[in-house]
Amino acid sequence: MSFIVNPYDEWYALTKSLILKETLSEPVEIVLLCVGDANVEPLIRKALSIGGDRAIRVNAESHDSKFIAFQISEIAKAEKYNLIIGGKETISYNGGLVLSMVAEFMEAPFFNEITKLEFKDTAWIGQVNAEGGYQVLKAKPNTPVIASCAKGLAEQRFASLKEKKVRYSELEIVSVGSALAKQLNRTSIMVVFGEFSHELEFTRIGAQKIYHITNTQRYDNAFVSKVLNEIAITEEADICILPHNSFGKSVSGRLSVKLNAACVSGVTAFEEVSTQSSKLKKNVFSGKALAHVLVTTQKQVWTWVANSFPVSSDSSNQENTAQLIPYNVDFPTDIDILETNNNLTTTISLPSAEKVVSGGRGLGGPEHWEMIEELAMLLGAATACSRPVSDSGWRPHHEHVGQTGLTIRPNLYIAVAISGSTQHLAGVNGSKLIVVINSDPEAPFFHSADYGIVGDAFVIIPKLIELIRKHQS
Ligand SMILES: Cc1cc2nc3c(=O)[nH]c(=O)nc-3n(C[C@H](O)[C@H](O)[C@H](O)COP(=O)(O)OP(=O)(O)OC[C@H]3O[C@@H](n4cnc5c(N)ncnc54)[C@H](O)[C@@H]3O)c2cc1C
Repeated sequence: MSFIVNPYDEWYALTKSLILKETLSEPVEIVLLCVGDANVEPLIRKALSIGGDRAIRVNAESHDSKFIAFQISEIAKAEKYNLIIGGKETISYNGGLVLSMVAEFMEAPFFNEITKLEFKDTAWIGQVNAEGGYQVLKAKPNTPVIASCAKGLAEQRFASLKEKKVRYSELEIVSVGSALAKQLNRTSIMVVFGEFSHELEFTRIGAQKIYHITNTQRYDNAFVSKVLNEIAITEEADICILPHNSFGKSVSGRLSVKLNAACVSGVTAFEEVSTQSSKLKKNVFSGKALAHVLVTTQKQVWTWVANSFPVSSDSSNQENTAQLIPYNVDFPTDIDILETNNNLTTTISLPSAEKVVSGGRGLGGPEHWEMIEELAMLLGAATACSRPVSDSGWRPHHEHVGQTGLTIRPNLYIAVAISGSTQHLAGVNGSKLIVVINSDPEAPFFHSADYGIVGDAFVIIPKLIELIRKHQS
């Protein structure tokens, strides 16, 4: 296998460092940190040629996020770095956990998926992707910050319970937890942040205790991981499950360090689970490979990939009500939230959508998305797109799916005028049913399709819309 510099490390982390070096008045040294064997040296040389001043390689071959994070944090502490900035590990084994763990080892603020970063009056200020929009965070003056980079503004990735409507992905995670609890004869505990009035729905699928945290002014990864840590200790919880999205990952890394637990990101199935060990399945390398992971510690933190487990239909718990525990805590953190914007997504959230209608470059321009949106609306689906579409500005970046965009696993994925490159498939090949509409019968996407329609999208989509309307009326 040959290695490349992770595009997010190269395009964003390193480039951002170079810009900071050019624009900040104080002297800046860019140190390239790498944990890996001698095979990675060409990458280090490439990064040095782009603009790094110095490089440190920890001579170790490891896929273990915590090991890598510990090495980085020890060096960072010893060298007293002011900023530790990295890519977001979209495709490798570690699933985006390393920087979150570095933050926890260093007890430092973590700006996850920054889209803007500046250094003002000795404090770092970052704009980060957040639920349905973004947050602007400010670290305390003279505090080092850990930051991971994002491309543009990305879709909200936190299937949290922070808003009123219950999402399928939340029901799914509670179903996973409840199934495990039943199997291990333990209690199924759920933690919700913010407004909440859905006890019955979650009770029905097996939640036995619901911790309700109402003071969510401090809604960042440091606060949430501290709350979860306290509850996990109080409840002697062995397995903590979070959504596999940007916020879930930023919390899970920190939480696993606090609990001294094994952390597995991107879990899609559990094969065997006992109180001592677990055999789990997870996707690696953008879903091109499957890893079977054996966890041999009692304490475990997982991030769970949406649409991998059926929501429980067991109604045996109908009579019971979960114990609702109001939980109000506050912890000092090193971050001030300067701004929160939750209004970027008004329609169905793409990461947790059950149905998705996606358009590609073959549609020719943004003016042709009206029919995609109409079809999506009729089906109750979210809209998505291929990368050239978002790169051309036809659609927002948070709709971009694939290797460098979102990974989704809806029940239905309709691909319109998308050729089906491996990079695109990497983000959607976990979909349960794929329908491809393409005018070229040789389009590679047909190889991965469950149903294919060869034809002009501008003829087929209006016909589909008409048929659905007729059917619905
Ligand atoms: C490192 C790297 C990462 C990448 N990451 C991603 C990623 O995350 N996501 C991603 O999508 N791509 C990614 N790409 C780009 C990827 O390789 C492809 O170039 C891209 O997916 C192609 O997009 P497309 O299918 O929309 O466009 P095209 O390849 O141009 O395909 C357009 C399709 O539309 C069809 N068509 C044209 N007109 C019509 C019509 N009227 N009706 C029906 N069909 C029609 C054509 O037959 C064709 O199949 C990445 C590339 C690299 C190198």
